[in-house]
Amino acid sequence: MEKKTRPNTFIEEISTIPGGEGARLCIQCGTCTASCPSATRWEYTPSGIIAMIRAGMRDEILSSSSMWHCLSCYFCTVRCPRDVKPTELFHVLEGLANQYGFRVRGTRTPTMYRSFTSSIKSNGRVHEFGMMFRYYLKTNPLAALKMLPVGFKLFSHKRMPFLPK
Ligand code: SF4
Repeated sequence: MEKKTRPNTFIEEISTIPGGEGARLCIQCGTCTASCPSATRWEYTPSGIIAMIRAGMRDEILSSSSMWHCLSCYFCTVRCPRDVKPTELFHVLEGLANQYGFRVRGTRTPTMYRSFTSSIKSNGRVHEFGMMFRYYLKTNPLAALKMLPVGFKLFSHKRMPFLPK
C-alpha cells in the first residue's frame, strides 16, 4: 500500500485541500480584513491568518479562534483581487483544527458545529431540541435556563418536538 506522506510545509498541506488552493496567491492587500463584518472579533485578522499560513505558523493558527468567527458572508471572496477565496480557506482551517483535535480558545462555535453534525448523523436531519440540549450540556448548562421561554413558545407552537422524527 502506498504510504501517504505529509507535505513539508503548512502552505503545501493547505494547498492540497479543496478550498485551500488560493493561499499562495495572496498579496496581503488587506481587502478581506477591511471587508469582514466580524474582523474585530478575530484573534488574528483574515489577511493576518493568510500571512501566518505562509509563515508556517500552523499550531498558532489551528489553536486560535479566528477562523471560527467567519460568518460565510463571502464579502472577502467577492472582493479579493487575487481570487484567493478566503472564506473557503478559513473553512479548510476549521476542518484541520477539528481533524487534529486542537482545543480552540475563546469560542463555542466548534461545539455548536459538532452538536449539529452529530444530530444529523444520528437522525438523518437536525433535531433542534437534541442539538441544543447537547450544545448547552457541553458549554454552559445554566445558560439553557435563559432559553426556556423561547423553548416553551416553540414547543407550544409545535415548532420544536422533544423527540426526533
Ligand atoms: Fe490576500 Fe485576497 Fe485578502 Fe487581499 S483580499 S489580503 S489578496 S486574501
